[in-house]
Amino acid sequence: MAEQKNIITIDGPSGAGKSTISKLLAARLHYTYLDTGAMYRVVGLQVERAGLDLEAEGAREDLVQLLAGLDMTLAPGEEGKETRAFLNGEDVSDAIRTPEMAMVASRVSAQAEVRKKLTEMQRTIGKNGEIVAEGRDMGTIVFPDAMHKFFLDASPEERAQRRQKQLAENGQKVEFQEILAQIQKRDRADSGRSLAPLQPAEDAVIIDSSEMSIDEVVSFMLAAVNKKQQ
Ligand code: C5P
Repeated sequence: MAEQKNIITIDGPSGAGKSTISKLLAARLHYTYLDTGAMYRVVGLQVERAGLDLEAEGAREDLVQLLAGLDMTLAPGEEGKETRAFLNGEDVSDAIRTPEMAMVASRVSAQAEVRKKLTEMQRTIGKNGEIVAEGRDMGTIVFPDAMHKFFLDASPEERAQRRQKQLAENGQKVEFQEILAQIQKRDRADSGRSLAPLQPAEDAVIIDSSEMSIDEVVSFMLAAVNKKQQ
């Protein structure tokens, strides 16, 4: 398949700045911003609310049924805010942003049925292009033909510090060591799983943002996109 010119993928571990940067890049290009982590978090919330034990016998059928009835919508967050999410029409934007829900999202995201369903939804959203898709497997699995692929990384300590600040802005006070431990645990789970593990696509540009400002990363990406687009 020919390279999809107007699809930009940004993958990387949690707290690397993907959301902020993807949103800014999408705004600069007048593209749609797709936060696929929010989708996994919504499914996690639904699984949790349904009291579904993924390890239990017969859980697969229950999960398939739950996914068949999934009523999820995303809406752009206000300036400086993350994507808003709705489950069965209820605004669950705050409920999905807790550290606990991040771990639940990570667990449900290792399930083949969940990945299949969300991959399909993501491809549908991206079918007309002009999209900046952010997640763990955007460049490797969901949009392998995207022309512009980035892998955004930063040291675990830097990411933990950024996450702590972000949570504080949302009124949640969490200890640095706790966040660091959670980030490292989620890194291990996301990188070690057999399905769509977190890894850079072969043709991705890898950016370590530990020592870079948000504006520097966005400018770097814009320059890379413009250069290839010509
Ligand atoms: O990016 P965010 O922290 O919101 O993602 C929550 C979790 O969802 C991740 O830890 C990961 O396990 C899962 N995820 C995924 N594939 C994506 C996006 C998120 O597996 N494309």
